[in-house]
Amino acid sequence: MADPIPTPRDKAQLPVEVIGSDLEGQQFFKRTRTVTIHRNGVTVSLENKLAPDAEMIVRNPETNEEAIALVLGRIREDFGDNLYGLIFVDSSVNLWHTVFPAAGVSSRARLECPGCQSVRDLSLSDLELEMFETTRELRRACKTCRSTRTWRETTRDETPRGPGEHPEERSNHGASGAPRVERRKSRRMTMETSACIRYVGREIIVDCENISKGGFRFTSRERYSEGTRLEAAVPYTKFTTNIFSPAFIVYSLKMPGGRYRHGVTYTKPGESTEWER
Ligand SMILES: [Zn+2]
Repeated sequence: MADPIPTPRDKAQLPVEVIGSDLEGQQFFKRTRTVTIHRNGVTVSLENKLAPDAEMIVRNPETNEEAIALVLGRIREDFGDNLYGLIFVDSSVNLWHTVFPAAGVSSRARLECPGCQSVRDLSLSDLELEMFETTRELRRACKTCRSTRTWRETTRDETPRGPGEHPEERSNHGASGAPRVERRKSRRMTMETSACIRYVGREIIVDCENISKGGFRFTSRERYSEGTRLEAAVPYTKFTTNIFSPAFIVYSLKMPGGRYRHGVTYTKPGESTEWER
């Protein structure tokens, strides 16, 4: 089958690790290779189904460098997997120390908000362009109806801007805009949450991040190996009644600085983990 993307600009298959939670809220850790690397993000093929805007950790396993990225969207099917665009929250990160060609004339697209039908001409980053060339749509925050939706290409004329809307407004994933700052704030809030894990008769309070309905991530100085079964209370509050649920460690990774990051998934009632079979 012909590649639908005409000659990707920064095609480079380099080792990458992606950590996050999928549409079902299950924690996952995937070691794979990048499909393309852009100045502000990467494309990777994953069997998991990811929600738009979901937060992922992208790692370079050769250097242990990592960065937070958001799911820009599913670009296309890729040999039975899904090719996703992941866009870095901090656009200055360069996990593979790639030397990019000097930025040329930025590409533009005319898109319509499905919420309020506002039409805007937008400049696209290289990653957004790769996605848009295939899907003809992009996720972005609308300053008029204040919602984040999937905008589609249109031939309609630009609609008048409201007061306070900058004429050269970029997509929410482009330059440092307000929506990203708000997301960073909410990330910090989730990172301050504590969890308590019960393991071999001990209760250990750990720093918790990325809580989803199917599990959570935590970091600790101690390493718990993959498959370890424990009980977890998230969020954990001292001096109150906390509810502990059976769970197990899905992955355990050494972080820069000597700590370990763990992915935890709750055991569903009546379900045995694959280590018990
Ligand atoms: Zn709108």
